[in-house]
Amino acid sequence: MAEPYLGNPGRCSAVLKKYGFSFRKKYGQNFLIDTGVLESIVDTAGITKDDFVLEIGPGIGTLTQYLATYAGRVIAVEIDQKLIPILEDTLSGWDNVEVLPADILKTDIQKIADEKNGGKPIKICANLPYYITTPILMALLESGAPISDLTVMVQKEVAERMVTGPGSKEYGALSLAVQYYTKPEISFIVPPSSFMPRPHVDSAIVHMELYGEPPVGVFDEKMLFAVIRASFNERRKTLLNGLSHFQEFDFTKEELAGAIERCGLSPTVRGEKLGLPEFAALANELSRMRL
Ligand code: SAM
Repeated sequence: MAEPYLGNPGRCSAVLKKYGFSFRKKYGQNFLIDTGVLESIVDTAGITKDDFVLEIGPGIGTLTQYLATYAGRVIAVEIDQKLIPILEDTLSGWDNVEVLPADILKTDIQKIADEKNGGKPIKICANLPYYITTPILMALLESGAPISDLTVMVQKEVAERMVTGPGSKEYGALSLAVQYYTKPEISFIVPPSSFMPRPHVDSAIVHMELYGEPPVGVFDEKMLFAVIRASFNERRKTLLNGLSHFQEFDFTKEELAGAIERCGLSPTVRGEKLGLPEFAALANELSRMRL
């Protein structure tokens, strides 16, 4: 099998020139040109020949070459049709990679795991397109597909939101969703100079190990995430006002106040001060009231 060779500015530019490829901002195209970062991603993901890896957005195949070298099998989903012939060329030295020309948000991850990996757990690895980081993460986490862990490059500020807890200004619905499904850790920070073209922000690699069982028990996950959304929709309002203004709920303000009190919370508390256990208790109380 070939050796990865694209992770430097000269090689990346040569491939772009050969195919007359121009970056498309609308697809969040910032390609990696730093061998050290590429090696650290594979290291953080702990990829071995036993692994089946799903990559989102292979670009010209820079990270894909590393994944294919270390993993058993790689499926890479790329939306930009113009990159498909380039990938055929740059990945021709590896026989364990398949490129799917598709939008990851319209791709059935469960089906990929079932059909291509016999339903066994898969790893996700990606330098994500930043314009849709949250929708991609939410789709993956909520898919119910057998994912063992995710290693993703995101904007540093988004990474901070993913790992933070109650009380910080970065804390919100994304923190709670990520922490309900996974144990997230920021592995390292990546400067703009590691990409072509350079983004205007610092980036970070986040590793997320999925829990076998969520850290809190809820009767109804939809209720949990509705309560979380309601609380952060109007961040500066009290929890009670946030919940009572939420269109999806048909509880009266008195019923909501009763539920908050039964959970041992102050009626004036703000959602941003609550942790996952408090949100779970409140969601369970509201689910019970619906029965
Ligand atoms: N993996 C490459 C690298 O590290 O050099 C490229 C990463 S670049 C930040 C993001 C990639 O995601 C681009 O190739 C872009 O075309 C692709 N992309 C953007 N939106 C996508 C979507 N909805 N589904 C699949 N791929 C997408």
